[in-house]
Amino acid sequence: MALRLDGKALAKQVEQRLQALVTANQSQAGRPPGLALLRVGDDPASGVYVANKEKACARVGVISVGVHLPAETPPSDVLRQLQLFNDDDAVDGILLQLPLPAGFDEAPLLEAIDPQKDADGLHTLNLGRLLKGEPGPRSCTPAGVMALLRSNGFDPAGKRAVVVGRSILVGQPMALMLQAANATVSVAHSRTSDLAALTQQAEILVVAAGRPGMLGSEHVRPGAAVVDVGIHRKPEGGLCGDVRAEEVESIAAALSPVPGGVGPMTVTMLLVNTVIAWCRRYGMEHGLDDLIV
Ligand code: NDP
Repeated sequence: MALRLDGKALAKQVEQRLQALVTANQSQAGRPPGLALLRVGDDPASGVYVANKEKACARVGVISVGVHLPAETPPSDVLRQLQLFNDDDAVDGILLQLPLPAGFDEAPLLEAIDPQKDADGLHTLNLGRLLKGEPGPRSCTPAGVMALLRSNGFDPAGKRAVVVGRSILVGQPMALMLQAANATVSVAHSRTSDLAALTQQAEILVVAAGRPGMLGSEHVRPGAAVVDVGIHRKPEGGLCGDVRAEEVESIAAALSPVPGGVGPMTVTMLLVNTVIAWCRRYGMEHGLDDLIV
């Protein structure tokens, strides 16, 4: 039976480190870290995600500043709100919750976020820093996957890794992070022919295709570490991932569950990026480098 890559447990451990760091450094900084969460429109899943992020902030001592604008807000007003957060000295991290309502172009809004305050690590400058191996906020989901692998003893160095999906949010930064960790990486996408032949080579397999139950036993090499990034609501209720867990858990060495795998780590990495930005601002050591390589 595959080892469970327990993101919930790891997120709790990392939160304890963050809480201790915030407590220890608060008098030097003169204020706690601040994370601004901007939501536009009424996407119900976004409402749940933002609420989870606010709760996580409260647990570690980060002040969350939530602003919720109506779907019909002109993009220029959304931009103005982001600029207010950029100029606010009590804000260290800014998150623009995606997806935006239909008709919004997210790219110029993401680019308007001060790269030093880019809690999601999606600004072009920060993606470029990842590409060049320079320090900077890292994309939360792939950084969470790296932490999950490493903390369970799966060092990517010298391993054959396959990432299914090439989005800017997950697949691309994931491949860069695995490569930076000295894995030999292949990236699969919707035009990949014979996906199973490729994924069967993977000692580390990260699946971010956004297709419920797309990968099963025929895709997995015995003994692989499999990370399922996908998250979907099942019509009958409950959640599932991109991997058919019931087939894969008897073959893989390790598998991340859905829910309770990558999801909690994504939220935690948002806090990590915010707390690191706060420490950098006041010239304080953070000791979190193991989480953002
Ligand atoms: P996107 O839809 O942006 O990207 C999906 C990628 O998968 C694309 O590159 C696409 O290829 C590829 N793909 C689609 N179908 C196939 C196929 N049949 N074979 C191979 N590749 C395929 O999704 P995201 O990257 O944003 O998210 C992926 C999943 O992860 C979603 O389920 C999302 O909900 C989840 N997610 C979970 C998070 C968490 O915290 N747990 C955070 C972020 C996302 P192509 O480029 O050719 O179209």
